[in-house]
Amino acid sequence: MADCTSAPSRYDVAMSDGYRQLLDAAIQHLEGLKSRGVRHVAVAPETLRALALQAKFSTSNFPPPITKPPAPPVAKTEPAISMPPKKTAAPAPAAPSQTTIPHLKIEITSASPAKAAAFTALRDRALACVKCPHLAASRTTVVFGVGSIDAQLMFVGEAPGADEDEQGEPFVGRAGQLLTKIIQATGLERKDVYIANILKCRPDTPGQSAGNRPPTPAERATCLPYLQEQIDLIQPKAIVALGATAVDGLLGKTLGITKLRGNWQTYRGTPLMPTYHPAYLLRNQAMSEKRKVWEDILKVMEKLEMPISTKQRNFFLKA
Ligand code: URA
Repeated sequence: MADCTSAPSRYDVAMSDGYRQLLDAAIQHLEGLKSRGVRHVAVAPETLRALALQAKFSTSNFPPPITKPPAPPVAKTEPAISMPPKKTAAPAPAAPSQTTIPHLKIEITSASPAKAAAFTALRDRALACVKCPHLAASRTTVVFGVGSIDAQLMFVGEAPGADEDEQGEPFVGRAGQLLTKIIQATGLERKDVYIANILKCRPDTPGQSAGNRPPTPAERATCLPYLQEQIDLIQPKAIVALGATAVDGLLGKTLGITKLRGNWQTYRGTPLMPTYHPAYLLRNQAMSEKRKVWEDILKVMEKLEMPISTKQRNFFLKA
């Protein structure tokens, strides 16, 4: 716990506009808490370390020298929205609540500027969402989505896990790495498709330091309009629903993923292919299960009239 009764009301070091905005937001939030009688706030150890760094740099020019050049922005993609503390060289101010901190928002581009603008507005709304107060309080980031908003192919998963919550990007953990391999096996890259989830916040697990849980029906219903708007704007030619939660979330109560997978469905006029979630393939490494998912993906490739080599057709077939 850190004492917040003496939050600084002014600061005179040279700093970037972005950093100043972050600091302003943090101070405003702390002063709001203070005016409501709050005398202490919980501060994560890494945030305290970052604050110590800030104190160290407060008499010199800010930001401190960056040894590595920042990664160039990726064109035509909706980038990862990540919180600054672990990823940037710049020290971060205290994080009162991520919903009050402006996220790193990199420009969303599209062949249609109007579409890019609409998508950006949608992202802004989602990033500020507090409709599920328990999730808004527990999340690190809102995991909005990643990829090209002009994509023909969209993947929909369940909800962010710990890695996604930390990095602000869907499917970056172990299951995500497998999804990336599946995408690459089609000849595409992550930046060529769009990836999102039924739920944009990591489901909380109160009292547990680790673990995941599926989103509740209420959480799903609350979050679904964001995904619907994403789909309506992107207008993909096909959607791959990964696992039961994604299928049920988009189609309503269904026959179950085992019966549905491999069979085309329709979601608001868009062909939807249900398949197993990559996490299932991590748990069940049988070649037969990988082949099932791959056959579902081959159907998607056919629907999109993508070239398919003999080698691709034969992936995961026994020799
Ligand atoms: N599982 C999901 O369903 N979505 C993610 O983003 C990560 C893991």
